[in-house]
Amino acid sequence: MNKSNIALVTGANKGIGLQIAKDLAKQGLTVLVGSRDLERGKAAAKEVGPGARAVQLDVTDLRSIAAAAEWIRQEFGRLDVLVNNAGISHSPAPDASFEEVLAAGRHSIVPLDEVRSVFEVNVFGVLAVTQAMLPLLREAPAGRIVNVSSELGSHTKQGDPDNPYRMANGPYAPSKSALNGLTVALANELEGTTIKVNAVCPGFTATELNKFRGTRTVEQGARAAVQFALIAEDGPNGGFFNESGPLPW
Ligand code: NAP
Repeated sequence: MNKSNIALVTGANKGIGLQIAKDLAKQGLTVLVGSRDLERGKAAAKEVGPGARAVQLDVTDLRSIAAAAEWIRQEFGRLDVLVNNAGISHSPAPDASFEEVLAAGRHSIVPLDEVRSVFEVNVFGVLAVTQAMLPLLREAPAGRIVNVSSELGSHTKQGDPDNPYRMANGPYAPSKSALNGLTVALANELEGTTIKVNAVCPGFTATELNKFRGTRTVEQGARAAVQFALIAEDGPNGGFFNESGPLPW
């Protein structure tokens, strides 16, 4: 990757996405800080570094996505790295405890609208942004797409009775399974091109997503995404990884 490479990180105004943006900027990339709210994006871009630019991007809003893609085309003419980081674990529930959120998400009772909201961001949002950015990624010499997934989306891990997180199975877990499926499908379709698509898991990281219950820092959580944003030509395509290696589907 050379210094003029352009990276877009969705949901980069806070949490793991902000850290991914900072780390990619440290590697010399020009980072586009995707944020639903442009002002919060601008504040985050200042933290990321002098070359970073904020871009308004709500992954559930096709007009916002199209405007972001058009702006990137006008400003840069291509995109080298797309990190699909934006994600939600549940609809906003500021007054609910972590345990209450988990209990309300059980599949025996969870409202379908709640399932749709989570899939809208974590699955359809990723697909919509990827479709809009693919023409720009095709203009890059070696496009990289990183989908920020979760081990909670691993069927193998969810089926393991020794896994302490297997009951944390609101709509978030199957949304990440669907994201993993999307990752493989797109990687297969793009085989033979210079674009590589992989899914990564940050691990259980202390962010607003889990009301800061995570046990890892954002610095640790960002590692795998950064690693796979920068993989070389002989790197993998269509895999699922954390920073230590491959994860089971
Ligand atoms: P976070 O701190 O809550 O950050 C989530 C980011 O996504 C925020 O910037 C948020 O923007 C953005 N976002 C939400 N809905 C959006 C939308 N419709 N359009 C654009 N941006 C949107 O959570 P995080 O832990 O850093 O999560 C980042 C990614 O890591 C997610 O995909 C998550 O599933 C994944 N992950 C996290 C963990 C963990 O333990 N934290 C573990 C595995 C995977 P606003 O500020 O506007 O809400």
